[in-house]
Amino acid sequence: MSSEKFPIFLANDMVLFPSSEVRFETESYDERQIFSLIDSSDSKRLLVVNPINIDNKFPDITDLPNIAILAELKMKMEVPNGKSRITLFGLRRVRISEYFVDDTFYEASFDDIIDNYEEFEYDNYKSVLIKALDKYITKVPYVSNSVMNKLSLIDTLNNLTDIVAGFLPINFNKKKNYILELDPYVRVKMLIKDMNEDIKLIELEEKIENEVNSDLENSQKEFYLREKISVIQRELGDVGSKDDEITRLKKKLSSLKCSPKIKDRIKREINRYEATSMNSPESGIIREYLEWMVNLPWCRYTRDCNDLKKVISSLNSTHYGLNDVKERILEYLAVKQNTNNLRSPILCLVGPPGVGKTSLAMSIATALNRKIAKISVGGINDEAEIVGHRRTYVGANPGRIIQGIRKSGTTNPVFIIDEIDKMRKDIKGDPASSLLEVLDPGQNNRFSDHYIEEDFDLSHVMFIATANYIEQIPYELLDRLEIIEVNSYTEYEKLDIAKNYLIPKSLHEHGLTSLEVQFTDDAIMRLIRNYTKEAGVRELERIIASILRKIVKKLLTDPSIAFYEVDNDLITLLLGKNKFMYQENESDSRIGVVNGMAYTVFGGDILPIEATYYKGKGDLILTGSLGDVMQESARIAYSYVKAHLNEFNIDDGLVFDNDIHIHVPEGAVNKDGPSAGVTLTTVLISLLSKKGVSSKIAMTGEFTLSGKVLAIGGLREKIIGARRAGVKTIFIPKDNEADLDSLDDEIKSGMEFNLVDTYLDIYKKVFGE
Ligand code: ADP
Repeated sequence: MSSEKFPIFLANDMVLFPSSEVRFETESYDERQIFSLIDSSDSKRLLVVNPINIDNKFPDITDLPNIAILAELKMKMEVPNGKSRITLFGLRRVRISEYFVDDTFYEASFDDIIDNYEEFEYDNYKSVLIKALDKYITKVPYVSNSVMNKLSLIDTLNNLTDIVAGFLPINFNKKKNYILELDPYVRVKMLIKDMNEDIKLIELEEKIENEVNSDLENSQKEFYLREKISVIQRELGDVGSKDDEITRLKKKLSSLKCSPKIKDRIKREINRYEATSMNSPESGIIREYLEWMVNLPWCRYTRDCNDLKKVISSLNSTHYGLNDVKERILEYLAVKQNTNNLRSPILCLVGPPGVGKTSLAMSIATALNRKIAKISVGGINDEAEIVGHRRTYVGANPGRIIQGIRKSGTTNPVFIIDEIDKMRKDIKGDPASSLLEVLDPGQNNRFSDHYIEEDFDLSHVMFIATANYIEQIPYELLDRLEIIEVNSYTEYEKLDIAKNYLIPKSLHEHGLTSLEVQFTDDAIMRLIRNYTKEAGVRELERIIASILRKIVKKLLTDPSIAFYEVDNDLITLLLGKNKFMYQENESDSRIGVVNGMAYTVFGGDILPIEATYYKGKGDLILTGSLGDVMQESARIAYSYVKAHLNEFNIDDGLVFDNDIHIHVPEGAVNKDGPSAGVTLTTVLISLLSKKGVSSKIAMTGEFTLSGKVLAIGGLREKIIGARRAGVKTIFIPKDNEADLDSLDDEIKSGMEFNLVDTYLDIYKKVFGE
């Protein structure tokens, strides 16, 4: 116990730990006085006391703790600003025995503290503390690890805890408690607790910072993208805030002609749109939907031209012939005038390419004063193409029907559906059955597109479908369609079409008149016969255009010639040699070659079938591009001939000791049809009985094993093709008699027709028995 009194430095904002140093400048005159006094003492010792209550500059004794640090004044230096710079070194904790206060001057006597904690689990505590400190240093970014080196030199927990406590960047109030706590083991726990708190705080800070950062990043990203969109929209002239958009939609709705139900729906969707945040993906979907809804012609009709004469003359002005179709349109108009609100017909024009199906449908629209919608369903295999995708589907759209209607802008357009025979059916669905909903007059007044969701009345639409082959139109649709066949044209019809339609149209398109260019009939005929091979006139139209292009060029480069007559010579000059030859075979009679008659996309043509034989075992060899059906026909024919060898005067040996080879030339066209049965039989008989058949004969007919000849299709085209090839005598099934009767005389004139019931009718006539 020391009865000696030591001056007290009241430290209000710093803590001095034993074995540590502090440096500071005096704050007040009183402080300077104290340190001057200490400096002049022998021991230069003082007591550093941290008052409990720091609010009072000169605290009451009761506000002073009973533990203090005995310190030594290491240095006192006067500095020019009138303050003193002080360096204190902490010696040890002491227990104050008595305070003495004289006005502003404090003194105290103290007792030394004897501690007996040292040996107790020192190493464990030390290592726990150092570990914690290590973690603390790595976690807390603003503390340096310099202290770690010092620690290894320290050998008491007392010192160790004081060093660490002095090093930690904790606040003054916390630090004070380390002075007051005498038990170093408790201090270790306090230190670990404080460090952990700090670490937690740091982690929390990090977390918050990360969140803030990522929020910031996200919002920056979103902001950036939005800006980009609006720039793009501005570039596209597509500006408008959501409010503008809503105003525009509401305005459109108010003038939209539609049922109250549709109005209601659109209103509801606009409300939904209003309530949806621009940022939500839903917003775009609703807007897109609204765009469709307010732009669909729910109730916008054009008035049909009811003047029948005008309509017919308009149709006649664009298309030659096609009387059935024209007639049907007139009937429709006539009946409509007699009744009210007649449903539009659902027509299907069936015929080979280029015969005017699509263009006539278009000109019907013009003649009736209706708008046109046109889609092609060829190759479609997904029913969503017809009835749309549900809105939940990403990138959903209405189907092609609604798209066509919107484009046409009216409720009653002429809607052309091309290639209705070329739809496909697969796992994605059966578009034909969806089309049924569209084309069924019984249900198309309530057509429901998956995207639009509301019924649309298609019953005022005049649907005109087109197809090449009636057999390939899906069966369920066929039932709903009014089929009108459009036939291929004869050469003379083509001549008419060229003279009256194609050439005047093409002249006009090339800026020419008939004063500058004229075609001779011969030349046109040559174009038809030798430069085109088609059922319709599309190729002919193209070739006329190409001739006119060449003439325009000539007119411009050589103004000395002001008029061109397109004759055979000029054609050769402009187009070169004939592209197709239809040669009439002069050597009239041939063994093992017989003309069949084919119906192809080019219209009709003859199909000379050849056969030969050579040593073998009675096999039948078939070459050329024959489909399955025709191969079957060949085998039936062969069996039939073998079964009647005697009747046909054929030598047995010839059949059984030889292989027979049948070839169908002109392999470019895939002839798959049963109608070659009679021809194949005739070839075999001609070959095996060595009797010639005239090249001026052609025949067609399906054929059974018993020799019965059955009806065939495409008679008109076949006859036109045969005539073109110079055929004079034709054999056709008796079952086709009615078809033959219905043909124009122009097609039949100068030809002999034989209607046959069984094969023997042909045999007798051809082989003269
Ligand atoms: P499709 O639809 O049958 O394949 P298009 O209607 O496309 O045929 O007709 C092809 C071209 O032939 C069109 O330019 C059309 O004007 C012309 N054409 C076809 N048939 C006739 C016709 N009967 N009268 C006048 N031009 C025709």
